[in-house]
Amino acid sequence: MAGAGQKGSKHMETVLKRAAGALPHNTPAFDVAAIRRDFPILHTTVHGKPLVYLDNAATSQKPQAVLDAISRYYSETNANIHRGLYHLSEEATKAYDDARHKVMAFLNARLKCEIVFTRGATESINLVAQTYGREHVKAGDEILITHMEHHSNIVPWQMLCREKGARLRVAPVTDTGELDMDAFRRMITDRTRLVALTYVSNALGTVNPVGELVRIAHGNGVRVLVDGAQAVPHLPIDLLDIGCDFFVCSGHKMFGPTGIGILYGRAELLEDMPPYQSGGDMILSVRFDETTFNSLPHKFEAGTPNIAGAIGLGAAIDYVNQLGMERIAAHEAGLLQYGTEVLRSVKGVRIIGNAAHKASVLSFVMDAAHPHDIGQILDEEGVAVRAGHHCAQPLMERFDVPATARASLAFYNTKEELDVFGKALERVNEVFG
Ligand code: PLP
Repeated sequence: MAGAGQKGSKHMETVLKRAAGALPHNTPAFDVAAIRRDFPILHTTVHGKPLVYLDNAATSQKPQAVLDAISRYYSETNANIHRGLYHLSEEATKAYDDARHKVMAFLNARLKCEIVFTRGATESINLVAQTYGREHVKAGDEILITHMEHHSNIVPWQMLCREKGARLRVAPVTDTGELDMDAFRRMITDRTRLVALTYVSNALGTVNPVGELVRIAHGNGVRVLVDGAQAVPHLPIDLLDIGCDFFVCSGHKMFGPTGIGILYGRAELLEDMPPYQSGGDMILSVRFDETTFNSLPHKFEAGTPNIAGAIGLGAAIDYVNQLGMERIAAHEAGLLQYGTEVLRSVKGVRIIGNAAHKASVLSFVMDAAHPHDIGQILDEEGVAVRAGHHCAQPLMERFDVPATARASLAFYNTKEELDVFGKALERVNEVFG
């Protein structure tokens, strides 16, 4: 992967070479048929056809192990955490804490207290904007984002800039859907207070060289938030290697439940930041004239958290760890290549997003039909894709399209499913052509 730091680049190079069959390796075959048996929903039908689920960038499906972990928590250990001295509460607290440890290890963060549970990537970004952002951004300052951000990494910064009289600047993307690195370098000025950028574009699949981008920003004394929502399901993540100051992601996109997300922040930054929300659990002591806030990460987790969600996310991490993120990335590189060929073989298809380094996202338009019509015909064939602006309206404008259809793949997808997808696209041409 370009730019995830030296170690990361070498590592991803290896992954991609393996995927292309250029390196011998002794790891056992990636048994997709066996993996699919772990996902009950993949064996359902839609309109009488087997489900072909290609909307993984919106949300991923959940293995039985995750469903079981949630159910086991509610049926065997349900109690509120941090509050009871009795057995069940201690068990629930331990399970919640174990989940935090799993996240720390999975992302290769330094400390458990640097992992804050939130509702999702969106809430994590809002947390940083409303705490770190409000403290550090003043009138005349600049926040730099990129043209390929999801709305959740645009609007919180836009609102902050409006409130503070600061300026939101946007680094452009090239026609192939890559970040314009020269422009990015130029746009970091002595007024830049924060860079917020996505690791992987949800609408184009572009993998940004985040390690390199972080080094450029840090070289100018600028902090960086990386939106990892679309990276975590596809790539091994090494936060120590990337070196960013904040990192956010969502449980539901990484085979865990909805309503749980992660904010990673460097401990020294989180320490200095004011709380985001207030109430129970985020305090050490409360008097009517003074409140002392709790230590990290509890200062940022006001109220009863999503205990079952954290436990389910921990189970999802165990699941993908046992498959191996490198093997997942290698399998998906093969799928991406195959899916790209399928799309190229269909008359009138134009792929939007042709970056050299892509995750398994295929955004496209067709001469014959609007993306919504494509989505509908595909649905009739049991194929679930997303059609729309993908919460990236400025990016759609950049590519001069109102919307795209998007097939986004996960490790449980197969080449056979991509063949079904290709045939369904031929039907779009038959119906509308
Ligand atoms: N960032 C990116 C790149 C995304 O693709 C998404 C969701 O699609 C988000 C952030 C927001 O995630 P959530 O809706 O889970 O908070």
